[in-house]
Amino acid sequence: MDKKTGVYICTGCGIGESLDIGSLSKVATKESKVPVCKTHAFYCGAEGIAEIKSDIENEGVNTVVIAACSSRVNYDVFEFGPSILLERTNLREQITWCHPANDEDTQMMAEDSLRMSLAKAKHILLPESFQGENMVKTILVVGGGLSGITAALESAKAGYKSVLVEKSPVLGGWMNSLYKQAPLKAPYEGPEDVDIAERIKELEAHADVTIYVGAEIKEIAGAPGMFDVTISQDGKSITERIGSVILATGAVPYDATKLENLGYGKYENVISGQTMEELAKKGKIARPDGKEVQTIAFIQCAGSRDPEHLPYCSAECCVESLKQATYLKEQNPE
Ligand code: SF4
Ligand code: SF4
Repeated sequence: MDKKTGVYICTGCGIGESLDIGSLSKVATKESKVPVCKTHAFYCGAEGIAEIKSDIENEGVNTVVIAACSSRVNYDVFEFGPSILLERTNLREQITWCHPANDEDTQMMAEDSLRMSLAKAKHILLPESFQGENMVKTILVVGGGLSGITAALESAKAGYKSVLVEKSPVLGGWMNSLYKQAPLKAPYEGPEDVDIAERIKELEAHADVTIYVGAEIKEIAGAPGMFDVTISQDGKSITERIGSVILATGAVPYDATKLENLGYGKYENVISGQTMEELAKKGKIARPDGKEVQTIAFIQCAGSRDPEHLPYCSAECCVESLKQATYLKEQNPE
């Protein structure tokens, strides 16, 4: 589409009293041969905006140069939609408000600023909406743990096809190693039986979900709406066209051997939450030295919220510790 430029010089905010607006207009009309050049005392007002909009609608102006105040102000007022190229010349803050009024150099500066805006407007291409090819809305979910399963299932329920890729041979991730899960539904009174198997069953039964287990993402190329994702599984290479990607690759426990100050690796009976879960799953929480457990202390924020280790909160161990405390109560109500 051809450009049609309109220049709108505001004389408000003292601009008209400081500059020779006639000479400034000639920069647009005579030098740059701009077909539309107008002035107004208050371009940010309703009448000024209406004048610009009328030129856009009735005169075919698609490149608007507003010579007035800074682009840091009135950006919401001078908003004419995504198909209009907009350039602002700052006559107010950078020129008339900080240089002598009716001065040759001030006038020269204003004219040069307008020339620069016109040159910029001339060389910028008109905005065009992105035209994708074979765009799809399929969602790729990377990771088949609780988050990935939930993401894929909820995407499918919302009407989007989803492709889930899991590195290990089975779905479920971390949830497979739990004895019980923290309550996920009301009344949230205590640990629940792990329900990952039912979630996996529901996911596998959904017609809009494609699952690759024992698979890895080799490459993601393209752009949103048209990613080509190469998945490797059993020595084969599969390509899926994907619209967007959800990373649900999970987390790994912090390396407890770095927490010597807490006695891990030094004292046999200092164990990690992960080991506690394994013991509970086996049916009995016993001390590694073989003696009966009488008293247990949970150390919170181990490796988290610590500038020497991980500065952030894991958002996990508070609830896990409370859950594991109930395992002990269950084993030994006394
Ligand atoms: S705020 Fe900007 S557009 Fe409004 S009158 Fe002042 S210079 Fe003109
Ligand atoms: S979840 Fe709780 S225990 Fe874990 S790091 Fe955050 S505040 Fe500390």
